[in-house]
Amino acid sequence: MKTKRSYWALWLPTLAFSVVIVLLFSVLYLYLHHNLDTMIETHKRSQELTKKIEKMVSSTLNGAFLGNEEKFLKTVTFSNEIENDILLLERKNTFDTAPLSESYEQLYKKLISVVSYTHENRIEDARGALVEVETYADDLEKQLEKLNTFLANEEKNAEQTLFLMVLFSGLILLSIALFNGFYLIPHRVIRPLEQFSQALQESEEKYRIVADWTYDWEYWLNADKSVVFVSPSVERITGYTPDEFTRNPSLLSDIIYSDDAEIWHHHTQTAHLPNRPEDNAEEAEFRILRKDGEIIYIDHICRPVYDSLGKYMGVRVANRDVTQKIEILAELREKNRLLDMLATTDGLSSLYNRRYFDEVLAKEVERSKRSGMILSLIMCDIDYFKYYNDTYGHQKGDEVIKRIADVLDSTFSRQIDVVARYGGEEFVIILPSTPPEEAQRLAELARIGIVKLGIEHAESKTAPYVTMSFGIASGIADRDSNGTELLKHADKALYESKGRGRNCTTLIRC
Ligand code: GH3
Ligand code: MG
Ligand code: MG
Repeated sequence: MKTKRSYWALWLPTLAFSVVIVLLFSVLYLYLHHNLDTMIETHKRSQELTKKIEKMVSSTLNGAFLGNEEKFLKTVTFSNEIENDILLLERKNTFDTAPLSESYEQLYKKLISVVSYTHENRIEDARGALVEVETYADDLEKQLEKLNTFLANEEKNAEQTLFLMVLFSGLILLSIALFNGFYLIPHRVIRPLEQFSQALQESEEKYRIVADWTYDWEYWLNADKSVVFVSPSVERITGYTPDEFTRNPSLLSDIIYSDDAEIWHHHTQTAHLPNRPEDNAEEAEFRILRKDGEIIYIDHICRPVYDSLGKYMGVRVANRDVTQKIEILAELREKNRLLDMLATTDGLSSLYNRRYFDEVLAKEVERSKRSGMILSLIMCDIDYFKYYNDTYGHQKGDEVIKRIADVLDSTFSRQIDVVARYGGEEFVIILPSTPPEEAQRLAELARIGIVKLGIEHAESKTAPYVTMSFGIASGIADRDSNGTELLKHADKALYESKGRGRNCTTLIRC
């Protein structure tokens, strides 16, 4: 709305003044045209009038003195014409023709008198009348001179009017020029333009500051993929200058790390295209090769850009160096993995610890309830281990625990089996979906494996080497079970093995 008003304010005054000038000139033209026509015509008539009067005088005198009747008759015709001409002069001018008419009438009368005296042969009277004719003729001449002076004055007036009109128009034009030059153009054109230009400059400055100070490497691509802008941060992140990126729009593609080329290809095929909503940001993470050869991780986010009419203008991109973040994340992941391991592993045997065993047992009991699959649990304990420690020392005892743990770990080697140190020299093994016979077979295998280690145990009352007793409990967990029952049965089976002289396996089906 504001623009439209300024636009009107700009051209309306000039238009109005122009219209006024055109109208004034039109009026002036019509006025002068009319006046000049009248003047020319009046001039012509006054000249003709003089001639006619001369002719009339001469024809009258000819008629009178030479007795030429025909010429005398012409006097009458001339007289009528002269009278008409005088009347016309009167009508077309402000000039007072009364004295002219009067002089003429006197002349005419005297001429008629001359003619009458001549006819009556009153020569002396005729001469006297002739003298009067001359006087009236002079008078008439003076009247005509007056008429010509009047006409000359009229011409002069017309010239003056023309001059005044030209002067007036010139002044109006000068006013328009001054108005346009000192008010309209400076106030309505130059100042708004300066203000606009200043606002634009300020906006550009803000934009430049924002763009230059952005920590991320930002760039904008035209619809034809040419580079519109690259922020200075690019140099810090990639080692290449903004200029190098502007001159070579494919530079980014060229420095994508070869292993991530597919990620980049897929991204450009989907994200760098028109007809995506403006707020739809596409993200990709890939590695690039810096100018100095270092590999860094880039988090790349791009959005399509549309102008106010909805025309696709390319893409706007923000690239962030996330190398440090990724390295920290990897470190954290490793630490978490270690923490998880420490939380679930027994330090001495490297088997799972009691905490982890409890967790898995509860889950497997639930699974057995749901699936109806048999769950087997083995509990085993080194025989006469107190004596071993007493004889060989605690350190040797630890070594035995480790070696036995290795045998158990390699015997119960399925992915789903869980071998854990339950406490002291006691171990537990969860065998999901394992029937009792298979559990007993494996327990026997482990028992024999330990015997085969042949670790000397002089104080054992079972054998001269280290042995282990096994208790197995197998069954499908019932509705109310939480694993305690199974554990109790395994313990009971172990107790039975101990009671049966140790170094053996006992199975309880429950
Ligand atoms: P049994 O055949 O009835 O199991 O006799 P035992 O001597 O093994 O049983 P007891 O419960 O009387 O003794 C267990 C011993 O295990 C006591 C302790 O000295 C030893 N022990 C427990 N934990 C460790 C350990 O971490 N390292 C070592 N070296 N010895 C341990
Ligand atoms: Mg014990
Ligand atoms: Mg024992």
